[in-house]
Amino acid sequence: QLVLGIETSCDETAASVVHRSDDGRGMIRSNIVLSQIADHAAFGGVVPEIAARAHVEAIDAVIEAALAEAGVGFADLDAVAATAGPGLIGGVIVGLTTAKAIAFAAELPLLAVNHLEGHALTARLTDAVAFPYLLVLVSGGHTQILLVRGVGAYERWGTTIDDALGEAFDKTAKLLGLPYPGGPAVERSAASGDASRFTLPRPMFGRAGADFSFSGLKTAVRQAAEAAAPLSDGDVADLAAAFQATVSAVVADRIAHALDRFRAEFPAIAVPVLVIAGGVAANRALRSGLAAEAEARGFRLVAPPLALCTDNGAMIAWAGAERLALGLADGLDAPARPRWPLDTVALPMIGSGM
Ligand code: ATP
Ligand code: MG
Ligand code: FE
Repeated sequence: QLVLGIETSCDETAASVVHRSDDGRGMIRSNIVLSQIADHAAFGGVVPEIAARAHVEAIDAVIEAALAEAGVGFADLDAVAATAGPGLIGGVIVGLTTAKAIAFAAELPLLAVNHLEGHALTARLTDAVAFPYLLVLVSGGHTQILLVRGVGAYERWGTTIDDALGEAFDKTAKLLGLPYPGGPAVERSAASGDASRFTLPRPMFGRAGADFSFSGLKTAVRQAAEAAAPLSDGDVADLAAAFQATVSAVVADRIAHALDRFRAEFPAIAVPVLVIAGGVAANRALRSGLAAEAEARGFRLVAPPLALCTDNGAMIAWAGAERLALGLADGLDAPARPRWPLDTVALPMIGSGM
């Protein structure tokens, strides 16, 4: 089945056509991502009003490009999916309303997809991972460890009690004078830094459970930066490296607890899978820390390619395709939601409009 997916929840306007075969294999036919980074760079972060307007201006051309690259028209599609939340509400409304218009005009089923479910299911598109699996979702707005039992069945085992990890990267970048978006900038700078020069606290390290906290760490970076001011490029690199090494160690520690719990709950699964998803999953230091932890405990680590970690339309098309395959669809009255925790995503009744 062929599904068009639309993503507009933050600062990229994205559309993609994905094919899902009856045996559950996925194939990306096109994946167009138009980043608004240039529109927001001068402000050091995403400005919601600018984002919404930029989505309106770009969405038609992005969808046309996705269809053209896939070599299909609306008539060839089996469904249209769009992010219905969580995210910046102006952008979500643009994408969801566009999808509703297409669904209405082309008489296609609509899938109102939770953006986090898109991140969560991407590993099934790229690697055909079977349920259940453990998911670490690290993005700009979320930092969670989830048990993924199936489509629409998520159990939250850990979450951040303050900042999201992507947010911590972005704020750290800002206070080090690095450009937006902060994550990639911190990673680039850290590559030439000495992580051992500054000692930072490791929030939550070694504690029971799988929760996170990053706001104290950000404060510690600020204090170290102030003490070392004015900062040379070398100072910035050393601080970036210390920050990155610290969060990698913390995330690896937190995930270790969750891996042990997964083992205890599913002793029959010989080689369980740990999936990482979300924009921060593009970070190589974090990936290798998690890989080591997973390997030590006999888990297989599945990390989607970098381009599918950050926001894209393929993850939304795929989540829509997975729902469609279960006979699910949403009504044209499906609401746009600024907040929508993944563990409250239920399996909607067909056409209930939920
Ligand atoms: P959410 O998915 O929670 O709604 P979002 O969609 O804005 O939030 P994503 O697009 O998934 O988040 O991820 C963006 C975040 O990923 C930003 O905070 C960015 O700094 C971070 N990020 C991207 N690349 C890297 C990297 N290489 N290292 C660290 N962080 C990164
Ligand atoms: Mg983004
Ligand atoms: Fe995202």
